[in-house]
Amino acid sequence: MHRFQVKGGQLWAEGVSVERLAKEHGTPLYVYSRGTLVDHYRRLDAALGEVGHMVCYAVKANSNLAVLGALAREGSGFDIVSGGELHRVLKAGGDPKRCTFAGVGKTREEIEFALRKGIYCFVAESEAEMDEIDRVARRFKRRAPVAVRVNPDIAAGGHEKITTGTYENKFGVAYEAVAGLYGRASRMRGIAIRGVQMHIGSQITAPGPFVAAIRKMAPLVRELKAAHGIGFFSLGGGVGIVYDPALASGLTDWWENRTTQLTIDDYARAVISETRDLGVQIQVEPGRLIVGNAGILLARVLYVKRTGVKRFVIVDAAMNDLIRPALYGSYHEIVPVRQLRSGASDPEWVPTDVVGPVCESGDVFCRDRLMPDLRAGDLVAVLSAGAYGFSMASNYNSRPRPAEIMVDGRRARVVRRRESRADLIRGEAR
Ligand SMILES: *Cc1c(COP(=O)(O)O)cnc(C)c1O
Repeated sequence: MHRFQVKGGQLWAEGVSVERLAKEHGTPLYVYSRGTLVDHYRRLDAALGEVGHMVCYAVKANSNLAVLGALAREGSGFDIVSGGELHRVLKAGGDPKRCTFAGVGKTREEIEFALRKGIYCFVAESEAEMDEIDRVARRFKRRAPVAVRVNPDIAAGGHEKITTGTYENKFGVAYEAVAGLYGRASRMRGIAIRGVQMHIGSQITAPGPFVAAIRKMAPLVRELKAAHGIGFFSLGGGVGIVYDPALASGLTDWWENRTTQLTIDDYARAVISETRDLGVQIQVEPGRLIVGNAGILLARVLYVKRTGVKRFVIVDAAMNDLIRPALYGSYHEIVPVRQLRSGASDPEWVPTDVVGPVCESGDVFCRDRLMPDLRAGDLVAVLSAGAYGFSMASNYNSRPRPAEIMVDGRRARVVRRRESRADLIRGEAR
């Protein structure tokens, strides 16, 4: 459930008018709803309540300190993929003992940093990486807690760039090679075997792929528990959200507050019934599910341009601010902030390309979409922009990155100030 509502013909984030935020802070502007992300965390945590579990929020989805801080206060763990993300978690008040460290290319320096901070577990993604973690830990006269990421060779996820669980991609250790690697690791003096992990993909909108992967993993989990006493099985993240209301059941889904396509309860039910008998703690690593529909990106229309065949609405946000449409061809709902109407049958609606100012033909938020007659100066909201939005933003075309606002009830706080021109060249020399 999200807390962006239409009241009096305009869009509100919890108790704050987003038009007011745009006037005060300028555009492009990310606006997050604290209530929404905390609600998602609590509902997932509660839905898994009958089994031993840990929710580790995937920091890469949105790593703003205010997002991490809100989740840390809820007791969330964190799934990190770099030393920089661990630094953020610590600065936000997160507990290193609830951090798991994944990723195929951890550097020696990152391994040392995580070991010194006492993280919960490393997730090794290859034999060579296991050797490196062992070497670093022995030098520290420590044992590094480790799980192995298993590639279960299950296809899942809506796009080739976000499918991770097949042998076509770089992640994890092939299922067949896993038992051998655990055997070797058990003889390493710098390694303490703790668990096993998988992560099959992202934006998965049905329980099927999770169930198939868990069923494939179950015999291995039992074997590893018997042989090495593993204590947890991490299922990774990947639960999909509603981006396109028309794809979910009915045009109004987003506004009806259905933010998850695979509901939290259906996901939890499937997970619990498939893992109940394994006798290990369950770990989940949701990113998109927690923050995706807890954020929007506000942009102002700069110009409207008609060519012989097209109407282009040029806005002040671009692919450097939100790269998902350009990178993955992702759908984001785009709505005018004032006089929101629903229903694509409205006769005033015209096919529109909403584009940004960046010098790339790929800098397009949507193509030929039926939209109301937007004019210069109008404010639009790109919905479902809380995950993989700001965290993937860049300074391409020397565009300062947007400010980020956290709304909590009637309060709104700048949680990252807009970058200045001086920020753009910080650290450079001529
Ligand atoms: C990216 C990632 C996640 C989170 O994926 P979502 O689709 O955002 O839930 C979880 N675990 C690992 C290891 C990841 O790389």
